[in-house]
Amino acid sequence: MATVLAVANQKGGVAKTTTVASLGAALVGLGQRVLVVDLDPQGCLTFSLGHNPDRLERSVHDVLMGDVDIADVLIETGEGLVLLPATIDLAGAEALLLMRPGREYALKRALAVVEDEYDIVIVDCPPSLGVLTLNGLTAARSVLVPLQCETLAHRGVGQLLRTVDEVKQITNPDLEMLGALPTLYDARTTHSRDVLADVSDRYDLPVLAPPIPRTVRFAEASASGATVLSGRKNKGAQAYRELAENLLACWTDGAAPVTLAVQAE
Ligand code: ADP
Ligand code: MG
Repeated sequence: MATVLAVANQKGGVAKTTTVASLGAALVGLGQRVLVVDLDPQGCLTFSLGHNPDRLERSVHDVLMGDVDIADVLIETGEGLVLLPATIDLAGAEALLLMRPGREYALKRALAVVEDEYDIVIVDCPPSLGVLTLNGLTAARSVLVPLQCETLAHRGVGQLLRTVDEVKQITNPDLEMLGALPTLYDARTTHSRDVLADVSDRYDLPVLAPPIPRTVRFAEASASGATVLSGRKNKGAQAYRELAENLLACWTDGAAPVTLAVQAE
């Protein structure tokens, strides 16, 4: 049975999509069979893995609607990842799903069909707390929250944690909050550290190690349809490799994830 990880934060631009692609590629490098799911109608994950959403006939939308088998929609990417792609059709899914009973379970049901074929499934949630994100959280065993280390990063974290609690009470009692992942981290400034310390105190949220450094390699990679793991050696790829080792140890041995001790200076 696959371990399903949802990557969620209703704020855009915090590196959700980058984390799904890079962590996924790093887990493939560790010998895992990885499926990544694009749940964002913008299709950025699909695009950044080398597939143009505008040219795809079928997507996760058709799977959530129950119109096609998930196996007929999956596509391979260059780096050994399997992708359940999104197209702009997904923008209509919110409204269509709302009219259906069991609407939060559509993704969970679809994944159940293929979950024996993968070790890990990573879900890229859209920047909202709507029914698509509820589907991601309902299907998941764990949730990880990428957090950009800048002032006001905490805005919205409380609301996200309340949503996670509600999902636990209603559709997915086993959902586990892994913690916040610091992204776009600038180790040269104390500001990044202060923001992390503030968030972890305020919400009692573990901060996962290692922080992902800010580097231009991410933009270069996604423009070329690959992840930072596929190019030259760089500190961004190295950070996602360490994160992959950290999470894999926690899923296979039941260990607690390695976290950062953050203190304001
Ligand atoms: P989200 O999915 O949360 O909206 P993205 O993963 O699309 O965020 O990232 C937003 C932008 O930030 C993208 O242009 C991406 O290339 C860039 N980015 C992500 N992580 C990093 C990083 N560690 N360093 C520099 N740029 C990054
Ligand atoms: Mg995104």
